[in-house]
Amino acid sequence: MLKLLLATANPGKIREYRRLLRDLPFKLVTLAEEDINAVVAEQGASFEENARLKAIAYARLSQLTSLADDSGLEIDALGGKPGVHSARFAGEKSTDETKIGNLLAKLKDVPKEKRTARFKCVIAIASPTGKVALCSGECHGLIALESRGEDGFGYDPIFYIPELDKTMAELPLEIKNQISHRGKAAQKARRLLEDLRLNY
Ligand code: IMP
Repeated sequence: MLKLLLATANPGKIREYRRLLRDLPFKLVTLAEEDINAVVAEQGASFEENARLKAIAYARLSQLTSLADDSGLEIDALGGKPGVHSARFAGEKSTDETKIGNLLAKLKDVPKEKRTARFKCVIAIASPTGKVALCSGECHGLIALESRGEDGFGYDPIFYIPELDKTMAELPLEIKNQISHRGKAAQKARRLLEDLRLNY
């Protein structure tokens, strides 16, 4: 079976993609499983650019079809920040708790109705020869007043979904995958991968 490299070192993303991309005619492998330690810098100004950069670089390094995602949180009251800087907004080595604390502090005077936000995810799938396909997904919600829930990763405990009256971290993986930015992008990626498989 052809291998598909999940080009991310983020355990939260790997866990989600293993479910989202199951039953495809590809064997999913990770950077660690392929002994790839190189870190590709996210220097782009957009999710698209970064996803593309990562997928192309890892496909070249591994000589495998590679899937990379660039994702993050855009908060309206912060003019769309942290956006592409979501992973490093509170400093290079910050933990999820520090990142969340930093955002809640910045939003402390912002009332509930003005705490609108969205998660965005762009997936790039690249071949070792440098061909790339992109797809994306979004999920809308509000930044909660405090953390709630133990599941998920990153900003999930403060991303509140009014329709479900739950934060993303209170949702089982299967439900998060049905509604999340990554879940929506991955549904499109599945179609791209099915077409790709037919062309091999
Ligand atoms: P990157 O895509 O590696 O640049 O990292 C994106 C950052 O955005 C992650 O480190 C998280 O902090 C945040 N993020 C992206 N997707 C999610 C998600 O599904 N839940 C919570 N936080 C996320």
